[in-house]
Amino acid sequence: MGVQIAVLSGDGIGPEVTDAALHLLHALRQFYGFEFQTVAADIGGIAYDRHGTPLPSATVECCRQSDAILLGAVGGPKWDSLPGHLRPEAGLLGIRKALTVFANLRPIRVWNELLGASPLRERIVKNCDFIIVRELTGGLYFGEPKERRRDADGNVSVVDTLAYTEREIERIVRVAFDLAMRRKKHLTSVDKANVLESSRLWREVVQRVRHEYPEVLVEHLLVDSAAMQIIQRPGDFDVMVTENLFGDILSDEAAVITGSIGMLPSASLSAEGPGLYEPVHGSAPDIAGQGYANPLASFLSVAMMLEHSLQRPDLGRVVETAVAHAIESGARTRDLARGEEARLSTREMTRWVISYIEKGVHYAENTI
Ligand code: NAD
Repeated sequence: MGVQIAVLSGDGIGPEVTDAALHLLHALRQFYGFEFQTVAADIGGIAYDRHGTPLPSATVECCRQSDAILLGAVGGPKWDSLPGHLRPEAGLLGIRKALTVFANLRPIRVWNELLGASPLRERIVKNCDFIIVRELTGGLYFGEPKERRRDADGNVSVVDTLAYTEREIERIVRVAFDLAMRRKKHLTSVDKANVLESSRLWREVVQRVRHEYPEVLVEHLLVDSAAMQIIQRPGDFDVMVTENLFGDILSDEAAVITGSIGMLPSASLSAEGPGLYEPVHGSAPDIAGQGYANPLASFLSVAMMLEHSLQRPDLGRVVETAVAHAIESGARTRDLARGEEARLSTREMTRWVISYIEKGVHYAENTI
């Protein structure tokens, strides 16, 4: 039987890239004996069309009973005029909340073969390979009170609240330290400790927890400085941890410097329940149904799922290596191709990557 993966394909190119990822998983079964079963559930616009809500309770239940969730993307013009709570994006926020996934991991990697796609100069983005760990369920987006007020004279004021408990900070900081231990042992904590009380507590917690990770080099950066340094020296970072709002902004900034949204995976982890894995890109309605969406962000999301939820980091590396080989050997979907380069369809790219998964087996067998 093996592990259970809930598959929420969603809308637009979501089903196309997710279907490709399922082919990849089947290849891992065929060549590596990886046992799994999948269970499909609706989310987003398709769920609204079928069930009248972007997040049916059956979908939440199915996710809770699974070991991991693979999501495609949600949204599209068809549902843009719906009220907020019925829009596809409400399904996405709802599932993150229902699963209390507090740690959002976003690898920011500029592939050497795709350097030309970055808006920054090659010498600056060369060797850029870091990961942003964003706190996802606390801070300014969730703190109370959060409201608009009108006094007796009719003057309007607003309040949002940036609240964190020490426990919330500590659990996300530990995720980041653990990741740093598995990488280059360099942690950058981003805050605004010169102004915000929440950031001062954040920095205290990082300083306390670092004693348990003496091998990890810790650097503190103010968020405004971090925003500049991501542009100036992105190759110097390894793991960057920060609170919800800062992480939202910095991870989008960092995504842009990679120049290829079709290559960026993400993971959202909870304390005990299943993790949620999804490409960073949206449902790309402009190219949906045409068969040439880039499936690599979905493949790399599967690699993260294998590492973080399914206890198979070895297979995660197999997937990453196969993607790297495909890119190195010149495989390009339309979004990645430049000039005269051949443009592969989603299916062709999938076959290309799977061919390296198969070769990986032979390589391993030959070296035994
Ligand atoms: P988008 O990421 O869908 O598309 C931006 C551009 O990148 C488009 O030109 C698209 O064709 C291209 N692109 C994206 N992914 C690609 C891929 N895998 N291969 C090739 N090209 C790719 O962002 P958008 O256009 O701003 O949003 C479209 C819809 O997606 C909206 O309804 C939005 O709300 C939704 N959205 C969903 C998510 C999610 O589900 N996590 C994230 C962002 C946006």
